[in-house]
Amino acid sequence: MLRIGLTGGIGSGKSTVAGLFAARGVPVIDADDIARRLAAPGQPAYREIVAQFGPAILDPERRIDRKLLRRRVFEQPAERLRLEAILHPQVRRAMEDEIAGLDTPYCILVIPLLFETAERFPVDRVLVVDADEARQIERAGRRDGADAEEIIRILAAQLPRAERLRRAHDVVRNDAGLAELETEVECLHRFYLQLAHHSG
Ligand code: ADP
Repeated sequence: MLRIGLTGGIGSGKSTVAGLFAARGVPVIDADDIARRLAAPGQPAYREIVAQFGPAILDPERRIDRKLLRRRVFEQPAERLRLEAILHPQVRRAMEDEIAGLDTPYCILVIPLLFETAERFPVDRVLVVDADEARQIERAGRRDGADAEEIIRILAAQLPRAERLRRAHDVVRNDAGLAELETEVECLHRFYLQLAHHSG
């Protein structure tokens, strides 16, 4: 099973690109989705996060307020490390379990913080979705209702764009429309099928 790690900055288009692979029958495992599931009320990570960050991190329905948590960890690196220490080992285990159940030539692992985390999840290739910063700010703002200032803070905490591109095996440029994006994904899909075939 060829593992493609898909990453990119906030608002670059990771979920959109992942959706285009999924539409081609490729299994997509999203680290953020898994983290969200593991931090739902009643799950082990929920208890640990509330113990670490206090009940102020809960919304009125007593779910973890992800926006608030995100703000806190981006403002305070020490808290970010504490959150990662709780979540990452559990996310890694859940991802490995899901991968073990797959039977396709390759899979896409969406890992937004692939480069930023201390212990990198093992992947065979890194696919970076890249868009210029103005587009990232505009798209993420439109999607999350976050203001530009907050997105710029998040951008600053993530790996610089040039460095991310340097570490990529493959790059999807997402500066044009969805039709162009689809063409790029189709091309990569064929490439990955071939790679999987030859490595296989
Ligand atoms: P990420 O997962 O990297 O944060 P998303 O895939 O959620 O980014 O994209 C951010 C927002 O921008 C979404 O609302 C998405 O629909 C939109 N978007 C992404 N790519 C394009 C594109 N090429 N053209 C127009 N809108 C786009």
